[in-house]
Amino acid sequence: MSSNSEWSDIINYLGEEDLPYGSMVPPIVQTSNFHYKTIAELRKAFSNEWESHLYTRGNNPTVAILRRKLAALEKADDAIIFSSGIASITAAIMSVVSAGDHVICVNHPYSWTSHLLKTYLPKFGVMTSFVNGTSMAEIDGAKNSNTKLLVLESPNSMTFEVQDIRACAAWAKTHNVTTLIDNSYASPLYQNPIEMGIDLVAHSGSKYINGHSDVVCGVLCGSKDLISNIASNEYMTFGSIVHPFEAFLILRGLRTLPLRMEKISRSTKAVFKALKEDNRVESIYFPFDPDNSQYDLARSQMSECPGLMSIRLRSEDESLITAFCESLKYFRMAVSWGGHESLIIPVLAAHQIPGKSVPALPINHIRLYVGLEEPELLINDLRQALNQVS
Ligand SMILES: *Cc1c(COP(=O)(O)O)cnc(C)c1O
Repeated sequence: MSSNSEWSDIINYLGEEDLPYGSMVPPIVQTSNFHYKTIAELRKAFSNEWESHLYTRGNNPTVAILRRKLAALEKADDAIIFSSGIASITAAIMSVVSAGDHVICVNHPYSWTSHLLKTYLPKFGVMTSFVNGTSMAEIDGAKNSNTKLLVLESPNSMTFEVQDIRACAAWAKTHNVTTLIDNSYASPLYQNPIEMGIDLVAHSGSKYINGHSDVVCGVLCGSKDLISNIASNEYMTFGSIVHPFEAFLILRGLRTLPLRMEKISRSTKAVFKALKEDNRVESIYFPFDPDNSQYDLARSQMSECPGLMSIRLRSEDESLITAFCESLKYFRMAVSWGGHESLIIPVLAAHQIPGKSVPALPINHIRLYVGLEEPELLINDLRQALNQVS
């Protein structure tokens, strides 16, 4: 794991050595294309759109600074920034599989990762087995001769199961299987899967990395070979790029990433403790809960446990659950997370939608995101709302 001074060096200085005009912060190079005076220079630019300045779908100077910083934070050779987290996951998966291949994925991944694997890729003959990622035996048992990819998400974002990342990476290497992990939960500060042997690390940058609930973006990190292959295939052809102004906003958000993560982690511990002690809460899901059977494993691969947890209320009465959710003042009801604002996402709201299958989780399951408000405020808010259900 990195030290705070390494983070500062990367976040505030890396890639900013030669900014024009002595700019304090990376300027927004808001241009779609770049021009040259000689055939030789233009030919050079054509030779590698991903590294040269030819066209902003391939490379842009503002975006390139962000790329370098995020790769360094994830201890990767290189990174690609996408227009969304799911675009980075889709590009990663499509880069590995061909028709007839097989994928192993942990149960309960992010919903659109699940949709891609379960519903979309079968039309190209790519099939996926979903496994309990806490069991290496189950992962091994799912393998067949066409298995090319293992998809992990540790912890996942509703129930927070973790996988043994080192064991999964070692298993995959012996079977010539590529590994991809969704690392959005921990951020690049608190878990670095590449150091544990994982090949590709994806983030929804819409969460902590940008951190201000105002940009949707994604990040994919890996070795020079894997990333340049994805850059010249999926990245250039899907065209799902992040634009220079958004890259500027993300760079601005990144400046405070360590500060925000520190505060969020501290507040999360306080909120967890208050809810754990409150007998109006039936159960609580949090990787660093000492009563969690995966506590030691979570501790061994994640340095902090920021932001997210889930609770189950004692009642499955819809009107009581509704009263709890609607009486919260500082926890707003919304998807996503990672910004200033604390949030809840009640499973109840995903039930009874015509044409949608019923979620596997019960209606009293509520995911909480602890934001940057003072923890006392948040704890008091939860306590007054819990009064509604008891
Ligand atoms: C939000 C999220 C995604 C998708 O990211 P977008 O930026 O919304 O496309 C993927 N994985 C996890 C765990 C997420 O929370």
